[in-house]
Amino acid sequence: MPRRAATSPCGAVGNIARVATTASTTKLVYDFAEGSREMRDLLGGKGANVAEMTRLLGADLVPAGFTITTEACVAYMRADRIPPAGLDDQVSAALAALETRAGKRLGDADDPLLVSVRSGARESMPGMMDTVLNLGLNDASVEGLGRITGNPRFAWDSYRRFVQMFANVVRGLPGERLEDEIAAVKADRGVALDTELDTEALVELTARFRALFAEHTGEPFPQEPREQLTQAINAVFDSWMGDRAVHYRRINRIPDDWGTAVNVQQMVFGNKGETSGSGVAFTRAEITGAPEPSGDFLGTAQGEDVVSGVRNTQDIDDLARIMPEVHAHLLEILRTLEGHSRDMQDVEFTIEDGRLFMLQTRAAKRPAQAAVRFAVDAVGEGLLTPGEALATIDAEKLDALLHPTFDPTADYTVLTKGVNASPGAAKGAVVFTAADAVAADADGRDVVLVRPFTEADDVAGFHAARGILTSEGGKASHAALVARGMGRPCVCGASDLEIDLRDREVRIDGEVVLREGDLVVIDGTSGAVTTEDVQLVEPQMGEDFEQVLRWADELRTLGIRTNADTPEDAAKARAFGAEGIGLCRTEHMFMAADRVPKMRTMILADTLEERVASLAELQPLQQADFEGIVEAMAGLTITLRLRDPPLHEFLPDREQVHAQLDEARTRGDDTAVVALERTLDRVHALAETNPMLGTRGCRLGLLYPEIYEMQVRAICRAASAVRERSGAPPHLEIMIPLVAYEGELEVMEQLVEHVGEEEGLARGRDFTVGTMIELPRACLQADRIAMHADFFSCGTSDLTQTAIGFSRDDIEGKILAKYIDRKVLDRSPFETLDVPGVGQLVRMGAWLGRKTRGDLKIGVCGAHGGDPDSIAFFHTSGFDYVSCSPYRVPVARVAAAQAAVSSS
Ligand code: PEP
Ligand code: MG
Repeated sequence: MPRRAATSPCGAVGNIARVATTASTTKLVYDFAEGSREMRDLLGGKGANVAEMTRLLGADLVPAGFTITTEACVAYMRADRIPPAGLDDQVSAALAALETRAGKRLGDADDPLLVSVRSGARESMPGMMDTVLNLGLNDASVEGLGRITGNPRFAWDSYRRFVQMFANVVRGLPGERLEDEIAAVKADRGVALDTELDTEALVELTARFRALFAEHTGEPFPQEPREQLTQAINAVFDSWMGDRAVHYRRINRIPDDWGTAVNVQQMVFGNKGETSGSGVAFTRAEITGAPEPSGDFLGTAQGEDVVSGVRNTQDIDDLARIMPEVHAHLLEILRTLEGHSRDMQDVEFTIEDGRLFMLQTRAAKRPAQAAVRFAVDAVGEGLLTPGEALATIDAEKLDALLHPTFDPTADYTVLTKGVNASPGAAKGAVVFTAADAVAADADGRDVVLVRPFTEADDVAGFHAARGILTSEGGKASHAALVARGMGRPCVCGASDLEIDLRDREVRIDGEVVLREGDLVVIDGTSGAVTTEDVQLVEPQMGEDFEQVLRWADELRTLGIRTNADTPEDAAKARAFGAEGIGLCRTEHMFMAADRVPKMRTMILADTLEERVASLAELQPLQQADFEGIVEAMAGLTITLRLRDPPLHEFLPDREQVHAQLDEARTRGDDTAVVALERTLDRVHALAETNPMLGTRGCRLGLLYPEIYEMQVRAICRAASAVRERSGAPPHLEIMIPLVAYEGELEVMEQLVEHVGEEEGLARGRDFTVGTMIELPRACLQADRIAMHADFFSCGTSDLTQTAIGFSRDDIEGKILAKYIDRKVLDRSPFETLDVPGVGQLVRMGAWLGRKTRGDLKIGVCGAHGGDPDSIAFFHTSGFDYVSCSPYRVPVARVAAAQAAVSSS
């Protein structure tokens, strides 16, 4: 689905205050016959679609009405809840026209016109805003309605529904209090269902509701229909700023300053009796996308009964039995609507005395599986071209197709919910440390790593665990990023959980809910956590998905590579369609349990000789790693980045060494004391106040060139060994991290070339040399840096940190959440590139770099390389490729194609 720009320029409340003022001459109300689907921004999705449907199907099938614009809502909010000048008059005029067409007056005592009042924003926000039905009823018109329909029960049922909804939605009377009254009246009458209440019971219920209304508001229930309408319209405007709607918008990144439209539509009645009913239907199966209509239907009911779940609905197929002609007519209309909109539709309909009415239609929200199926079928049916079909898919959701998921039919109790940080489901025994996860993995046990939060030291545990569960952090936390990178399901920020690492137990409200070794099952797609052994279903790429990806490959111009540090990840990414490795973080290879001690010896070395000697031990291990990766990616380009993180990441924790030292002293173990004192000195010496901006990246390479020399030698030897074995030379790119000055790159390229020559390999022929662009200075000086680079790869994660001055791990939890809450930001800049800020630097870097070298290859390897919105930006910025974690590769392929289609 086409997605919005990365960030809105400023806070929404601020925006509301700045939108154009609405003069009294502005047209604020549109008859359905005046609108069209192109007017979505002004009329909201519902208003635009109902107008389009009126044109298409005719006024006989679509009850008449009018739409109050989103601009009116924005003006109302801007003026602190005062309706804009002219609105009242325009509503009255539209109402008069509606009354003339209907041949009835709103709330007339003999034959009343009744209307529904519904919200409808630019993008549908199901269930988030308010609706009032049966407006126009009062003590007099209810009698008229009963007489004219010959059905007083129906009239009173409509009136009690109206009073109930009006009281709740418009005047904030708590729904439970109203429900309590229904329960009391049903108990009095000894009946179980609402439909069993007779007229007299409904009259009593309405009276009870009105008494509650008067008690709650201090006013009698309004009898004047026009006044009812004004209050209802304002309530819909207000519901745009209600908690539910604000929360929904935040999750779905819908700007607050869009406002909602209000649709006023003539009521038709599904609650009239046996030959009446209401339903919702999809033009195709909403879960699978199979080309058969699906939906729910309820006889003798209004639409609210179908969605609220108060009564069990019937399948749409049952309608074929109950009212075959209506069913056939509905199917024909579904075909017409889908053919016209060229997208899967979700409709609401009402049957009044055997006559079908269509109330609304909209593009159906669909899970990834249905999106893929629809895209493929729509092309097969000649409805859409492949490019158009791809545009109907929400690329972000495709991730879900690549991981196991909870069996959709499974029944289980949710223990708690957290942030759905990395999709897929995982089950295993609870472990609390990375080391325990590694040990369990070695024994072939499935475990879930449970921690308050995770850090660099825990990465080995991510590999070993089936999934990760944390109580702190959001979608950009360390746990979330690493888990997504590795394709591990992750639920983070499950804040109900008190994770006690010392006692190895998890509590909720002080009560122990999980102990080490207990089964826990997490769903990283929904954020659910349970202790029940839920059945999981394995993912299947499926022929339809493959077809979608083939189309994506034909249409996209961006290359898609992967970030992979192991042959397994490389192979997985290749199977998902990666065209090379855009970032191999060579330091991750030293995190395996058997290598950390060797790394530590190297770091603890006092002299150059000692360090070189330990590096010599590490070199063959690193060479073997490179050979594995090169072979997994045979024939494709691989970018190997030299060591980036600071050395101290491989040293033990200071407190831990202190404790061990104390213990050794108490034991009187002098040898251990000497060794631990040395370790502690080194830990102290290497400690930095701000390691992120300290001795890391190429700075390390300048300080300890022997480390980079060892790595380059290992790369060259791996290349030669693979070439010898396979006969095919690998395509290797050696990348220098964290360059700010051209001089840094100059020194490093000399080092790489020199070692290359010693190993019999030449730059240009056997490998190329390039750099990460991940510091603002590098972007500003990219023309000079490009003099030493064959390629650039934008490290947008570090660039985001350094350009905004956000330390990701520190701001993620509290600050970012607050910023989003206060609408300073509408989403994390670590998830989607901050186009106005960081994006400008990225573009400048690319532009300056290519000024120096027209053929400079430019890619991105930061976490944004797998984000659809960011991918669209890299596409339009002239990048050659994006690189992302293996599981994001299919998402990136589709997103790159969508970017190409929408910009062509
Ligand atoms: C980056 O900074 O965007 C990047 C890819 O490097 P790393 O994540 O390894 O710091
Ligand atoms: Mg970086």
